[in-house]
Amino acid sequence: MINILNLTLDELKDWMKDNSESTFRAKQIMDWIYKGTWCFDDMNNIPALLINKLKDYFYLEIPEVVNLLISEKDGTSKFLLRYSDGNIIESVVMKYKHGNSICVSTQVGCKMGCKFCASTLEGVVRNLSSGEILSQIMVCQNEIGERISNVVLMGSGEPLDNYENVVKFIKLANSEYGLNIGQRHITLSTCGLVPKIYELADLNLQITLAISLHAPNDALRKLTMPVAYKYSIAELIDACKYYTQKTNRRITFEYALINNTNDSNDHAKELSHLIKNILCHVNLIPINEITEKSYKKSSLKNVENFYNTLCNYGIETTIRKEMGSDINAACGQLRRSFIEQTKSEEEV
Ligand code: SAH
Repeated sequence: MINILNLTLDELKDWMKDNSESTFRAKQIMDWIYKGTWCFDDMNNIPALLINKLKDYFYLEIPEVVNLLISEKDGTSKFLLRYSDGNIIESVVMKYKHGNSICVSTQVGCKMGCKFCASTLEGVVRNLSSGEILSQIMVCQNEIGERISNVVLMGSGEPLDNYENVVKFIKLANSEYGLNIGQRHITLSTCGLVPKIYELADLNLQITLAISLHAPNDALRKLTMPVAYKYSIAELIDACKYYTQKTNRRITFEYALINNTNDSNDHAKELSHLIKNILCHVNLIPINEITEKSYKKSSLKNVENFYNTLCNYGIETTIRKEMGSDINAACGQLRRSFIEQTKSEEEV
């Protein structure tokens, strides 16, 4: 059985042909799905025989909302979603003036091992399929009753470690018969899997690439990001240059500020030199403190100094606004506390 959400319109048309059905049925079915009808039996312009055939080949899986926290401060909603195999992930919807933005997960857990990140503490469980990533948007949109127009792939998982499914997800989310989210409204964040950045660049998509850099040199990066042992910053920067040349898109460098670790003026200067010739912008993120680790957020003074130094060197920089701070145990924490709680209930 196949999750029908993994299919493009053309693939569903091909299936219709192979099954001696009219291809226009594919569009009718997609219309139902993307308008929020998720049960084949409710698609009332589709003949019963075809519905039965569909049910033999496909299922349509929308994850179950097992918990939803809504921020009283800024309306950010944090969804805890469960797939039918019991795996749980988080998606977060943020409300901005320019529209709703969703942060989706691409894997259950993560194997990249970044020391400050809650998603990776127990490794990766499995990849999410393109349809499973897509259904996060569908269910959240349905719950909030508003359109979601921006997507960031910054939930649990390393998108480029699930490359095929993630690329297909981008195509599905972008397609006009579906959610119709512009490529420029999609941001893929990676810890820097260099060969995959080249592959992605060659696809010539118009998405934004965000690189989790978090350090201006290899020695420092190795302290928090195991991927730094595999690819040097020099290799990563070359890949980024290639990406901007190929796509003409500006790269975002994410830099999580950890108190007295990577947040000095010298680090800011080193970072400026490193990226000065790249079409880019830096997003500073005072680190979210997670209970399992002792990393502390940079002081406001250090954040400001770091920001000012980058600006003085001509680097376009923003400081990420913290959203949903009242509901936000740091990224990945909601899932972890839910799993821990379930475990301890089972043990009782
Ligand atoms: N694996 C991808 C995408 C998921 S993480 C990546 O590494 O980019 C999304 C972003 O959140 C990354 O920049 C990641 O480094 C950052 N992040 C993870 N844990 C964090 C924390 N505790 N505080 C601040 N940012 C964090």
